[in-house]
Amino acid sequence: MRGLAVFPEAREVRLVEQPEPLPVTGTQVLLRILEVGICGTDREIGAFTYGTPPPGSDHLILGHEALAEVAETGPDVTLVRPGDLVVPTVRRPCPHARCRACRAERQDFCVTGDFRERGIKEAHGFLQEWTVEDEAYLVVVPRELSDVAVLIEPLTVAAKAAEQAQAVQERLPWERTRIRALVLGAGPVGILGAMSMVVKRYDTFVYSLESAASERAALIRALGASYICGQDVSLRDLEPFDVIYEAVGISSVAFAAFTALDSNGLFIFTGIPGHGAANPINTDALMRDIVLKNQLILGTVNASRSAYELAISELEQAMFLFPQSVRALITRRSTLEESPRLVTEHGGIKQVVKLANGRAP
Ligand SMILES: [Zn+2]
Ligand SMILES: [Zn+2]
Repeated sequence: MRGLAVFPEAREVRLVEQPEPLPVTGTQVLLRILEVGICGTDREIGAFTYGTPPPGSDHLILGHEALAEVAETGPDVTLVRPGDLVVPTVRRPCPHARCRACRAERQDFCVTGDFRERGIKEAHGFLQEWTVEDEAYLVVVPRELSDVAVLIEPLTVAAKAAEQAQAVQERLPWERTRIRALVLGAGPVGILGAMSMVVKRYDTFVYSLESAASERAALIRALGASYICGQDVSLRDLEPFDVIYEAVGISSVAFAAFTALDSNGLFIFTGIPGHGAANPINTDALMRDIVLKNQLILGTVNASRSAYELAISELEQAMFLFPQSVRALITRRSTLEESPRLVTEHGGIKQVVKLANGRAP
């Protein structure tokens, strides 16, 4: 069977022939991969700045945003059945007894860093025709979502942030009637973040540099959020926000937006900036604000099973409210043969590789 591989030593990205999977045993599940989304992480791995092959392998099969169909189940599988649509989670726990997060099945909070991530770190990904996974790492998806379910994994970024926001803002013991949320950046993470906030009935604004007349701005408005063009409006001129959700990955832009955070507000970082030059920042002003305004800063990475389940429910609600706009987030579907190019080229909102059609086994 074929897959898309990155060879970090040889600095190559190409299709490879992988061994056919062995018959499944125990709680293993054989998955027919239907679709895989491509994101900035894949492009960084494809540029050899990131990503680690499994031990002993010279290559890493890419792909962590997958939609698959259960083809066969091992004798001890109880959670999924052949024909089920599933999204596999990405991170696998570290082996250390002292990591209480991983032992509690919350490897998204792993403290040792010795976790593996499919398609990213020491485990092959899903951009191949078949794969085997333990049932513990599969989340069943309703059939009605099949044409957009490849968005579930990227939507878990916002879903985990939402879970964390809910937990930490319980510190405010009164009911808040109208939450104003600002999303920084109109890339896939930002747009999906905005969609997630709209379905939670937040008053949602997206701030980015694209023109207010751009297709992207129109799509954001069609998803129920307001679009603010950073070229026309300064953050200082906006009414302050209860939540700011950073999805630009540029620290200077993110910290500049702190002035737009209200008292008791929550600032959520999701981006991972490169190692650039140091940026000057007025630490006195920042610290004074955080203390005098009871503000919180939260970073979030990866996602637990509960975040996948929340992402599925948010996607269902978004498909009820604006199905055409949700579908429009997938700007291109390519074949596996075309996939090496997707990893090196930018373009569109979400690019998806289509490997197979779902069908009863
Ligand atoms: Zn991704
Ligand atoms: Zn761990």
